[in-house]
Amino acid sequence: GARPELLGVGALVAGYGAEPVLHGIDLQVGQGEVVALLGANGAGKSTLMKALAGLHRPVQGGIHLDGRELRHLDAEQVVRQGVVLVPEGRQVFPELSVLDNIRLGAFLQPQDREARIEAQLRRFPRLRERLHQRAGLLSGGEQQMLAIARALMSRPRILLLDEPSLGLAPKVIAELFAALDGLRREGMTLLLVDQMAGLALALADRAYVMEGGRIVAQGSAAEIAADGSLAQAYLGEG
Ligand code: ATP
Repeated sequence: GARPELLGVGALVAGYGAEPVLHGIDLQVGQGEVVALLGANGAGKSTLMKALAGLHRPVQGGIHLDGRELRHLDAEQVVRQGVVLVPEGRQVFPELSVLDNIRLGAFLQPQDREARIEAQLRRFPRLRERLHQRAGLLSGGEQQMLAIARALMSRPRILLLDEPSLGLAPKVIAELFAALDGLRREGMTLLLVDQMAGLALALADRAYVMEGGRIVAQGSAAEIAADGSLAQAYLGEG
């Protein structure tokens, strides 16, 4: 059954110079839905995620959250509206402690901060064990969990995850996807880019496949997973 639309992207064009990288992207994410965004390297997935997060101003097209236009907002205003990106490469503050990194996530949403920190530490017990260590000393998987915990502190209505499994060991990736599944069961809306197409599709309700800055396929996660030609052409690992 169709869920009410939370995020809507229409005819979005964006790029870095004269040449657009995104050639008119149409995409919807329903309330509480998990959507996977797949495609080969260079397809434009990160560019789209940055545009949605207000880090990269689109040239044309619309980005709506609950019908409200976000396209002209800056990154901080976009976070205030509830669209929060966990960027590729985690980007925690390495010199700060785990706790201070989490606290920074509440910068725009300071109410009930301590209780919400506690909730994140229950979600990611490894972070509690390392609460006063410098974030730069954490393993890659722990840094990814910290980046997600920090993002959740800003009370997202939709969480954008760009390549969360990048560079992590299989066991850690399994742990990460279990945490994402926990978020899904809590009703969090997720838009997920990940090279681990098989895992992303197992988590997702629906998926889009990008190639050359365009959406070339979309469907239920099961339909996309079952399409052998897509798997070969775009999805790489399964
Ligand atoms: P990857 O998984 O490799 O990050 P992607 O699907 O996320 O791939 P993008 O990173 O969005 O793709 O890149 C899309 C295109 O935009 C590529 O051709 C890339 O070279 C180009 N591009 C990305 N970032 C920049 C930038 N800062 N300046 C100029 N061109 C860029």
